[in-house]
Amino acid sequence: MSKRIVVLSEEIANKIAAGEVVERPASIVKELAENSIDAGATDIRVELEKGGCQSIKVIDNGLGIEQEDVPLVFERHATSKIHKFDDIFNVVSFGFRGEAMPSIASIARVELLTRRKKDVSGTKAVLEAGKIKEVMPAGCPEGTQISVTKIFDNVPARRKFLKMEATEQSVCLDVITRLALAHPEIRFRVSANGKEVFTAPEVSDVSKRISMVMGDDFSVHCVSANEQKDNMRLTGFISRPEYTRSNSKSIYLFVNKRFIRDNSVTHAVLSAYRQIIEPRRYPASVLFLDMPPEDVDVNVHPAKMEVRFKNAHGVYELVSRAISQNLAEVETSKGNFIYRLAPKEKKDFSFTRPSLRENSPAVPFGMFSRQKLQQAINDDLLIRPLTEKSPKVFEHEGSRIKESISFTGMRYVGQYANTYLVFEGDGALVLLDQHAAHERIILEKLKKTSGEKVVSQSLLIPEIVNLTPGQVTLFSDYFDFLQEIGLEIEIFGRDAIAVKAVPATLKQVKISEMISDIADQLGDQNQMPSLQEKREKILATLACRAAIKANRVLSHEEVAALCRELEATPYNLTCPHGRPITINFSLNEIERMFKRK
Ligand code: ADP
Ligand code: MG
Repeated sequence: MSKRIVVLSEEIANKIAAGEVVERPASIVKELAENSIDAGATDIRVELEKGGCQSIKVIDNGLGIEQEDVPLVFERHATSKIHKFDDIFNVVSFGFRGEAMPSIASIARVELLTRRKKDVSGTKAVLEAGKIKEVMPAGCPEGTQISVTKIFDNVPARRKFLKMEATEQSVCLDVITRLALAHPEIRFRVSANGKEVFTAPEVSDVSKRISMVMGDDFSVHCVSANEQKDNMRLTGFISRPEYTRSNSKSIYLFVNKRFIRDNSVTHAVLSAYRQIIEPRRYPASVLFLDMPPEDVDVNVHPAKMEVRFKNAHGVYELVSRAISQNLAEVETSKGNFIYRLAPKEKKDFSFTRPSLRENSPAVPFGMFSRQKLQQAINDDLLIRPLTEKSPKVFEHEGSRIKESISFTGMRYVGQYANTYLVFEGDGALVLLDQHAAHERIILEKLKKTSGEKVVSQSLLIPEIVNLTPGQVTLFSDYFDFLQEIGLEIEIFGRDAIAVKAVPATLKQVKISEMISDIADQLGDQNQMPSLQEKREKILATLACRAAIKANRVLSHEEVAALCRELEATPYNLTCPHGRPITINFSLNEIERMFKRK
């Protein structure tokens, strides 16, 4: 092998740069649409074929490009946006590296049609594998139209990594959704295989755009957040505590109108909500942070998704304060600590239970005399020895045999921290996590129905749930699976689905919450390569949603029912996320702790 140093050819250099800039069809959509915005377009149309894997066309009514400049568009480091080095600290546009167009052209066929307002005739250019094939005058409307086809044809390794078309399409729609959120003054339209899948007409006010894009559910459950410090300003909308999502994807952050990801800001948002929403649930927010361009370096990430703040600490503080204060106002206006985690309103309760006895205690057992407690235990909570029918062991993970939980001979002592059920039996002290246990029970019920008889409950009137167009696209691949678990849905226009039946096990869960959780899981790009894993994850999320929460006082009957159900559930040692359901302390261990041994 030759060890001589060689300068890479322009072609190879572009392909390498393309690897950073153009990862998937959505990256092309992003670069093209951002160029259109920079060109002052007020109307941007995106046409996708096969989820953007076959072809992508972006049409704008922007400034257009002068014929002489057209070849320059595809040269590396050719940009109309900066002219001297210092300019890069002052860019307010999306571009400036002059990298995107040559990168895209190096991995696809590109056809460009463009005309400036003042020119009589426009220009057409065709590029293949990064090389200009032709540039010639052509008639066309004012603005620029760029068609990209044969995407990744010459980079088979990349092509292989593309996901299902529906997934790629939904990522493309995510890109447009983000641009649309920050640019209410621009009309955006997206069509897929000739069918319109997204429209955002031009509006005067960002809040109108937000409600259009984020859906009605968010709009009615959000408050505005505004805060200013020095030369930084934060504006936007944050979800009220009762509106939560199953992942952090709905936390949108824009810095000078550019969508970015920033772990520190996300952390600031999540911390502000930590005390008021349940664990493992996430808020939604659309936040716009504006500051002088020289205070933020956008040049640290090839796809410009991350930035570096000059005053990162100040940004954190600003976001954190804005959210905490605005949430606090919600809370005070609502009166007495309604959003505190405990005690929860009864309507959230989703545990199957016999009706509460009149004198059944709503207070922890600590309030009872010892005698009364024993009486209560004898009455209700003597967990009857279960019959032989209830298996003592289950096949677990194929070959490994694990013991399962049995409450035979156990005595219920009480509830600790309104979350853990305390038992004694067989010389041991057992703590049981009520949420984890119920989660497992529900998950196994949902799983059992797949393939077998579906226990589903039809709704008298279908419930319409608003989603983003990207999410609607994702659902279409999962109709069969959802039907299997008893969830019957139909597409209802571009940005909504109709729910016709729900799994009986989940009938207490709010339908819109159920659907938004599933949408979050389907749209999560970071995990679950296989369909199977995706399904498991959806079921686990639904189980978590429906399960009895921590911080909830349980009646004796409820505890007894939970125990019986858990005994009859396979894999009853861990919750769907793999955490233990029970923890045992032997007398020996406890005596050692007391230094008796
Ligand atoms: P950058 O956006 O970083 O400048 P690009 O490679 O994306 O680099 O684009 C190169 C140049 O091509 C831009 O600076 C701009 O002058 C021109 N250009 C690209 N797309 C358009 C468009 N839709 N309308 C007008 N000019 C465009
Ligand atoms: Mg650009």
